[in-house]
Amino acid sequence: MLGALPTPAQRTPPPRRAARVCMNGHLLAAEEDPGLARGAATNRADPLAVRTTDVRCPACGTGTILACPGCGYPIPGATPTLAFDVPHFCIVCGEYYPWTFRGEFYATLAEILDESPRLDRAALRAALGTLERQREGLAESSETRGLVETFRSLGGSDWDLAAQILQVVLTPEQRASLDLRAAFAH
Ligand SMILES: [Zn+2]
Ligand SMILES: [Zn+2]
Repeated sequence: MLGALPTPAQRTPPPRRAARVCMNGHLLAAEEDPGLARGAATNRADPLAVRTTDVRCPACGTGTILACPGCGYPIPGATPTLAFDVPHFCIVCGEYYPWTFRGEFYATLAEILDESPRLDRAALRAALGTLERQREGLAESSETRGLVETFRSLGGSDWDLAAQILQVVLTPEQRASLDLRAAFAH
């Protein structure tokens, strides 16, 4: 039985300390006991949808994780000797952490805005500001709605691509209240 074999995450010695990070990439704690990550949920197919722990991020309200959604290996925390940065990917399975995926998606959304001929400078600056707040998990629902309308106003393939990305990065509650399907209707 496959289940009897230790996984790479189980074979690799745990880090000395684990980090607790929210799905948007905010660091809550860098010196957690890695034992807290034992039995953590994984979701290799959809890391952004992994079940999070009960501890919420005070900055943005999203759930936090202590382990890689791909393989369950603890997120390495701070060491006494090196300055600590939230890591981008798992050292055991190589998978990007959710905040890295989200960062890539948001970079693409910013590019779509930046390259559209339909926005003047002021509108572009406003949209990029809202996009940054959305990325940080800080946007009000009215701001998110306005941002979606801005993308919709770009039309064509810009809106198609943006709508597909927004389907992934917005929370289920945000998606439910916004009409992103129209993009695929034509
Ligand atoms: Zn957060
Ligand atoms: Zn991993």
